[in-house]
Amino acid sequence: MTEPKTLHEASCADDYDPDSMPVDRARALIRTFLAPVTAHERAHIRQALNRVLAADVISPVDVPGHDNSAMDGYAVRFADLAAAGDTVLQRVGESFAGKPSAATVGPGQCVRIFTGAVMPPGADTVVMQERTTEDVNGVRIAAGAVGKAGQNRRFAGEDLTRGQVVFRTGQRLRPAELGMMASLGIGEVTVYRKLRVAFFSTGDELKSVGTPLAAGDIYDSNRYTLYGMLTRLDCDIVDLGVVPDVPETLERAFASAAACADVVITSGGVSVGEADFVKQLMDKLGEVLFWKIAMKPGRPLAYGKIGGAHFFGLPGNPVSVMVTFYQFVQDALRILQGQRDVTPQPAFKVRLAAAIRKAPGRTEFQRGILAADGSGGWTVRTTGDQGSGILSSMSQANCFIVLSAETGNCAIGDLVDVQLLEGLI
Ligand code: AMP
Ligand code: MG
Repeated sequence: MTEPKTLHEASCADDYDPDSMPVDRARALIRTFLAPVTAHERAHIRQALNRVLAADVISPVDVPGHDNSAMDGYAVRFADLAAAGDTVLQRVGESFAGKPSAATVGPGQCVRIFTGAVMPPGADTVVMQERTTEDVNGVRIAAGAVGKAGQNRRFAGEDLTRGQVVFRTGQRLRPAELGMMASLGIGEVTVYRKLRVAFFSTGDELKSVGTPLAAGDIYDSNRYTLYGMLTRLDCDIVDLGVVPDVPETLERAFASAAACADVVITSGGVSVGEADFVKQLMDKLGEVLFWKIAMKPGRPLAYGKIGGAHFFGLPGNPVSVMVTFYQFVQDALRILQGQRDVTPQPAFKVRLAAAIRKAPGRTEFQRGILAADGSGGWTVRTTGDQGSGILSSMSQANCFIVLSAETGNCAIGDLVDVQLLEGLI
């Protein structure tokens, strides 16, 4: 199957049904329209945390730079150690981390050595100090203290060799990568420019924090969850506030968002009652598809292009915003940021601690709490009421319980898929 080149083309496929769009299908379709940013800049490695490499990183040195000791003990010549019984050696120097010994280890000699210290010339093996005693007669090494030559010795270049590609273009930089680059003496790297994401909330009932509520008003929470999720993805964000459901105002908001950003995200206004109105606007400004995704929560979703900007129209309900962001927007942003190895969020099987009622037909992303079962395993239960307006369910949850479209009711003890909401940072 050839991939669609335009959104219109995509909507003409035989099996395209905007009223029942499977989650995977929508994800794949969005992917075909994503072209990563190309502009890049130099950044100090600290500023590069979470950014994506725009050039390979090549090791300028061997790591470690010298053979060194993996233990506190004595650097010896393996050939000197008696095949049976203890061995007594004469100590001829000390090698500390950062302060190598000037001595060469000759036959019958050894050097006191500490973890990370350079191996003295002549020695090939380190005996751990727990297997030794030292007195006026010398250093006594217990029989069988070392199994083979080279033991407890780290070799120069065993982690990385000079000229080796350490990280490839498209790699996102986490704390381990920052540390590795520092270990190579690299203080600056080339990363893709930040992605600019503009967002606003739509709805006449919405008020921003800090303003009083009139009867029937509610505070806009979506801009804050979006702020949090986008900040964690290291995007440059443009918060355009609340936009009322007035066509001219909305049109201006869409146009100015698209003019200043790579991605425009809105919440609200895509549900059945409101979509027509936004649809008309979009037909004027760009090309947008409106879908009813076969999922719960987060049924309505719009994706399109307004000029050069990608547009994600998320549902209005606070839980739906977070679920659709994690399931559709997050990976799209990662791809746009230049990350090459964007793979689906891992899911793993865990037993249910309580039954779940579900009708087949839609993929459900229930909010779950994973807990240790007391015998080395884990079980999961839901946070309770799964209404799409109950944002506290996202706060209580530490995972999504992902129930496929085909799945029906689940019994206690059934294996279900879970996706963690947080990882190690
Ligand atoms: P809509 O998709 O615009 O019909 O909104 C669905 C529900 O989500 C309604 O109850 C809205 O009041 C609510 N909602 C929409 N936007 C927000 C927001 N930014 N913050 C909190 N609730 C919202
Ligand atoms: Mg609305």
